[in-house]
Amino acid sequence: MERLKNLLIELIKFKSVAQNPNELKSIIDFVENYLKDTKLIIKRFEKNSKYSLVATFKDTKKPKIFFVGHLDVVDAKDELFEPKVEGNIIRGRGAIDMKGPCAVLIELFKELSAENKNYDIGLMLTTDEEIGSENGVNYLLNEEGYSCDFAIIPDGGFNFNIINREKGVLHFRVISEGKSAHGSRVWEGLNAIDNLIDFYNDISLIFPSEPCGDPNHWHNTINIGKIQGGLKVNIVPDYAIAEIDIRFTEPWTVETMKEQVLSSIKKFPNLKFEVLSTGEAIYVPEDNEFLKLYKQTAEKILNRKVEFISEHGATDGRFFAQKGIPVIITNAIGYGLHTDEEWVDLESLYTLKEIFKSFLNERADI
Ligand SMILES: [Zn+2]
Repeated sequence: MERLKNLLIELIKFKSVAQNPNELKSIIDFVENYLKDTKLIIKRFEKNSKYSLVATFKDTKKPKIFFVGHLDVVDAKDELFEPKVEGNIIRGRGAIDMKGPCAVLIELFKELSAENKNYDIGLMLTTDEEIGSENGVNYLLNEEGYSCDFAIIPDGGFNFNIINREKGVLHFRVISEGKSAHGSRVWEGLNAIDNLIDFYNDISLIFPSEPCGDPNHWHNTINIGKIQGGLKVNIVPDYAIAEIDIRFTEPWTVETMKEQVLSSIKKFPNLKFEVLSTGEAIYVPEDNEFLKLYKQTAEKILNRKVEFISEHGATDGRFFAQKGIPVIITNAIGYGLHTDEEWVDLESLYTLKEIFKSFLNERADI
């Protein structure tokens, strides 16, 4: 446990935020060095000043299981990069999101190597999750050709519960072009903002309005996050844009949701549609063999039940879901991600490592 604690303290000290590419590189250097006396095959990657590391026991791009973590964090005041130990609690930026869980994964692989395990598993560590994972997980899966049968991402949920459903995402921009005219002679123009509002009202009809009556809110949602357009009170605007955030539950997919949006867009003149980013919804059925075994193992080690839960936000799991790879998302005990209060329970990190070890041990074929 001491080693895990010391490793986490070292990881928190790196100010590995998106605007510090040197620190992103340094933290990956540090992990590579930390694993250098193992039998792991370590590959390094860099894309657009975002750094990643993949470690496997076998020389393969498709291990059976990938454990996935990110070593970047969201920005914080300097003192949050000076970890504080209060008994069993470690405070600091990234303690739970997710340098704590990353320390678990790094220690897990180091220990398995020392124990001469030769599992067909991989460790994927990236440094751009907090800004969309374009040059991290997305790059490794879709450009470097990494894959697996199953992925485990300790970056969601709480208290060892297992997320097996996650909403999908469609972020898009709508550009509305009209014709300007004087505000006193509106019939001579075409109001781009009106057109945009008409579209938004139309697409909104397929989303439940709040309060919806479902305490879990397990339904599709829409949010207009940004809107711009117009010059002056007395000019009919000829240009307006909106950026819209749709979250959807399965069986909706990025494709079917996109079709839905486009069918609405077509009803209005002069609207253009641009996708900003997408992520498939995740649903791993509760009888999936990996999931069932993982849950049983966790319950055995914890000596209590763990729950399946649904998550509204998106994780790196979406990139695996896009490839049809089942993924489970879980986490140890911690609190306050992205806030000044962030902490993790060290004992629970240790337990998480024991669950992973025991799970791998149960799978004789790995
Ligand atoms: Zn609702």
